[in-house]
Amino acid sequence: MRTSRTPEAGPSSISPSPSMVSSYMSSSIEHRASLSTQRTSVTTWSKNVEVPEIPRIPGAVNRPQGSYKLADFNIHRTLGTGSFGRVHLVRSKHNFRFYAIKVLSKDKIVRMKQIMHTRYEQAMLSSVQHPFIINLWGSFQDSANLYMVMDFVPGGELFTLLRRSNRFPDPVAKFYAAEVALALNYLHNLNIIYRDLKPENILLNSDGHIKIADFGFAKYCENVAWTLCGTPDYLAPEIIANARYNKSVDWYALGVLIFEMLSGLPPFHEPEANPVVLYEKITKGPSCIKWPTFNPNATDLILKFMEHDPSRRFGNMRNGAGDVFAHPWFMEVDWNRLRNREIQAPYLPKINGDGDASAFERYPEDKVAEMYGLPATDPHGKLFPDFDYTA
Ligand code: AMP
Repeated sequence: MRTSRTPEAGPSSISPSPSMVSSYMSSSIEHRASLSTQRTSVTTWSKNVEVPEIPRIPGAVNRPQGSYKLADFNIHRTLGTGSFGRVHLVRSKHNFRFYAIKVLSKDKIVRMKQIMHTRYEQAMLSSVQHPFIINLWGSFQDSANLYMVMDFVPGGELFTLLRRSNRFPDPVAKFYAAEVALALNYLHNLNIIYRDLKPENILLNSDGHIKIADFGFAKYCENVAWTLCGTPDYLAPEIIANARYNKSVDWYALGVLIFEMLSGLPPFHEPEANPVVLYEKITKGPSCIKWPTFNPNATDLILKFMEHDPSRRFGNMRNGAGDVFAHPWFMEVDWNRLRNREIQAPYLPKINGDGDASAFERYPEDKVAEMYGLPATDPHGKLFPDFDYTA
């Protein structure tokens, strides 16, 4: 979500390696905020009168969405917070299973002009079904809020695990990178661009396999996009240059992710969080990176993902993701077994039964959940036609 916070509790580390530079730990333990310049305001639409329809994605799964309402759930604790609302652990009153519900304030979305991004988040998630992508069961709205009902993913964020481990050994980074590569390839085959890959958005299931969450910037994109969005450390140079870009920005981000998993820091890390300097470094490219000693195959793959010219970037050439799957760093990966979750994950989250959310940090609850579903005026309802009114 688009916020920063400090983890207080989480899974234990994979490898208790010596701590990195201490100034880094203090600055980068916080979640990195996503940003966007896409701004669809209500006035944009009032000129056109009709709210645009989001097209159905050719080849996407036809997943009937469940019909839910707030009264179907008991709301438990908060799992994450953001600019527009928060994610709660909830329990169904009917089947007693735990779910995560993302609650977004319509008023805040409208004020921050993120209407289309929010509609795309719901539309993209309801079009996909993949073992390494979060599962959306349904979505609904009431006067004040939008609600998205998802599987509860109990193992916490890869971000927390990475910060607690400082860095991952090569095979561990490879495992998570390979699962991400499969998920990206699936999305790209549907012409969905994800645009916000980072450890904060990768959750760990109870079996240790990944689930990519937060589709807030995902979009159906057959050719090119141009909105500046993503997280600064992970932005490809063409996004920073305000040029048109394509799905290859996700492969670029995977290069950044592999670097961060292996070293504990993103490649162009700026301790002072100065975006101007950061963007200069990204534009100059990996030659200005101080490279730690990685497995040479890992370095080679990172460089191929972080290629400045998108037409020569790995994942975006004639063989598409085939080049990625065939790269020597992934030589020992059995892609079919991995996709079927037959490869044992390197880290098993410690989970004490259903509904154990101890892998997530604690947030002040501030009785926000008591405010959901209260009668209110609803000036924005027609802006979100894809969210059912089931209350
Ligand atoms: P998001 O805005 O989707 O990134 O969600 C904010 C935070 O809530 C995430 O970083 C996770 O820590 C948590 N979260 C989101 N979705 C889920 C889920 N399905 N299960 C467990 N935690 C989640």
